[in-house]
Amino acid sequence: MTKYNFEAIENKWQKKWEEDSVFKVIENKDKEKYYVLEMFPYPSGKLHMGHVRNYSIGDVIARFKTMQGYNVLHPIGWDAFGLPAENAAIKNNIHPNNWTKDNVLEMKRQLKELGLSYDWDREVTTCLPDYYKWTQWLFLQFYHNGLAYKKKSPVNWCPSCETVLANEQVVNDRCERCDSLVSKKNLDQWYFKITDYAEKLLEDLEDLDGWPEKVKIMQKNWIGKSYGAEIEFKIKDSDKALEVFTTRPDTVFGVTFMVLAPEHPLVNELVKDTEHENEVNEFIKKLERLSEVERTASNVEKDGMFIGRYAINPLNNKRIPIYIANYVLMDYGTGAIMAVPAHDERDFEFAKKYHIDIIPVIDPENNDIDVNDLKEAFSQPGKMINSGEFNGLDNKDAIKKIVDYIENENLGKSTINYRLRDWLISRQRYWGTPIPIVYCDKCGIVPTPDDELPVLLPTDVVFSGKGESPLTTSESFKNAKCPKCGGHAKRETDTMDTFVDSSWYFLRYTDANNEDEVFNKDKSSYWMNVNQYIGGVEHAILHLLYSRFFTKVMHDIGLTTVKEPFKNLLTQGMVLKDGAKMSKSKGNVVSPEEIISKYGADTARLFILFAAPPERDLEWSDTGVEGSYRFLNRVWRLTEDLKNIFYNKGNINIEIKSGEDKELNYVINNTIKRVTEDIEERFNFNTAISAVMELVNESYKYKEIDSEKFNEDLMVKAIETILVLLSPFAPHLTEEIWYEIGHNSSIHDEKWPSYDDKALVKEEIEIVIQVNGKVREKIEVSKDITKDQLEKVALNNEKIQSYIDGKNIVKVICVPSKLVNIVVK
Ligand SMILES: [Zn+2]
Ligand SMILES: [Zn+2]
Repeated sequence: MTKYNFEAIENKWQKKWEEDSVFKVIENKDKEKYYVLEMFPYPSGKLHMGHVRNYSIGDVIARFKTMQGYNVLHPIGWDAFGLPAENAAIKNNIHPNNWTKDNVLEMKRQLKELGLSYDWDREVTTCLPDYYKWTQWLFLQFYHNGLAYKKKSPVNWCPSCETVLANEQVVNDRCERCDSLVSKKNLDQWYFKITDYAEKLLEDLEDLDGWPEKVKIMQKNWIGKSYGAEIEFKIKDSDKALEVFTTRPDTVFGVTFMVLAPEHPLVNELVKDTEHENEVNEFIKKLERLSEVERTASNVEKDGMFIGRYAINPLNNKRIPIYIANYVLMDYGTGAIMAVPAHDERDFEFAKKYHIDIIPVIDPENNDIDVNDLKEAFSQPGKMINSGEFNGLDNKDAIKKIVDYIENENLGKSTINYRLRDWLISRQRYWGTPIPIVYCDKCGIVPTPDDELPVLLPTDVVFSGKGESPLTTSESFKNAKCPKCGGHAKRETDTMDTFVDSSWYFLRYTDANNEDEVFNKDKSSYWMNVNQYIGGVEHAILHLLYSRFFTKVMHDIGLTTVKEPFKNLLTQGMVLKDGAKMSKSKGNVVSPEEIISKYGADTARLFILFAAPPERDLEWSDTGVEGSYRFLNRVWRLTEDLKNIFYNKGNINIEIKSGEDKELNYVINNTIKRVTEDIEERFNFNTAISAVMELVNESYKYKEIDSEKFNEDLMVKAIETILVLLSPFAPHLTEEIWYEIGHNSSIHDEKWPSYDDKALVKEEIEIVIQVNGKVREKIEVSKDITKDQLEKVALNNEKIQSYIDGKNIVKVICVPSKLVNIVVK
């Protein structure tokens, strides 16, 4: 008997599949399409187990759908721009381009070792000009449609490195490289107007039935729609007023102070030439060094300062002090809040700290509240109190009444607000898509004409780690000719956020090699949308939201026919070892290469799919891997033992002769049913695999029966069923055996088997026999047995006889196909 030589088998078939381009796919209008996609990787250079899991899940779905007769698109590519390449350039003096290309080659080799069914002809690499040309073109479409604009906004700035830092380069307020305190610097930066699509992004979540509820909730919260009112608070002794947005107009009578973001443009004006000026400026400087999270996290102490001025509550004309505080930010809402300490936790903390009045305006218990007893703000609904003419109303009803009052009295208006902000896409980095814009002294902002795209990344760049952006060191790049007037112009030296690159790659796959268009509309409308998208839940917000935004914009400007990119979404769990995520620093990394060289890719794939349902975290287990390896060996040996019975018996009519035949035939058909349903309906690959394992066990059992009973045709059917059902999981081994047993075409061209309903009807059923209601025996009887016969069988049963012997039978209750109860005295 030959041994299961996974290495030779896997090499052989990977080569053969590639030579025969078996995974290449083209549009075919006569066939129903299926588009399965895994989130494309960043080319870090090393494949990790999380990748293996992600791609194995996608591969099983792709192979399964292909066997079901679909025209399956299953592409892969590289999310290849980004900071690590640039850091490697600074540290090791390697050009980011070379670093990235080497990594792509290395990871591609590793991916191919897994036997994944990708159409490599559609590979996209976001850092190559043939891709980023179209990212630039799309930027210009956004620009021409009023969806890209420039605005001053702060970046992290390291004063000693003299460079802009990404958020991930700032650790506890300090520069990751030199440990200096990081400050903020205002730069002119590009934004995409995603807020224009806030409502559509929210509304269309409703139609995404194939998305996990938790992801939809995260997106919903991120968009953060709220209803409320914009109210004008006049400033005392001034002609100025503060615009305040509130979602709780029912609490306006409880406002006891105002808080402005320290950056609010009015702050300087209000404190100018007052005794508070110096103190306030000091405070603002201190806050400038902090990130948004550090200012607003719930465990950060509320910190603020009275600025010496008052506002007037428009509803009761009360005078209320104005503060500035860390927890109010300029870029959400208007940068000013009305503080209601009785009903808002943050305001409550602040009021307690600075001894400000607390006035409850909603009474949930319907009894007088003693303010001095209050330990925390309360948010329960209740009756209005301390609110003038609105007293006694339900606070929910009061919202509308107070908003109406405000509108009638011209004190403000009702509003809808979103938490979602516009998307800042400028990065002061080299390794990204250049923004195709020039600045001309005469003409201002001028977009690069389409026929001058791509704006190529220059190579004469110095990676000193200093300056606003490495691109500013390239004279050839910086200086440009104005496309409008022909005069001298300066090129934009910022590049785009890499999330831009990944917001449309799934569309490029539908026509990846098109040099004339971003993609052909017919082709993209054939393939889109993605039927099944698979990736980590860490992308639940930004990547998925940006991709949805891009798709909607592209739909609205006529580039694509779909409004949503991903019909179904599967968020796979993490791969853990010893209860923790695999990471270098924890020293608990198992590399895919190690497993593949020891056991082969089929074992690696099988284990990772067998160990847990895909959306759950998976605990790595060496014994589990060995178990998967042993199982594949068992499949190998089963056919090796029986080699002589195969002479290509495909599509034979099998005669079911004995009880053993009936049993095995039942298991064959039941396994087909279970595996199909487990893959199709739930992606429960683990239970699908264990069903195949049971069929393997049954087949071993059947193999040992008496030779005169041994039904070769049925045995062949059992084994072929095992191979076909297992082929999406362990594609190499099953392909090898498939040819070994006499087939001359690929197992991956086989049709997915269907099951025979008739074989699933068990001829025998189990009947419980009770004596005086107590279960005394279980028997197997024909399912067609009559009531009389069943009664007789029960009474004549040997064991039952011992219970009823010598007693008087009062009654026999017979429930067909279930039980017989004999009542005796
Ligand atoms: Zn620094
Ligand atoms: Zn010009």
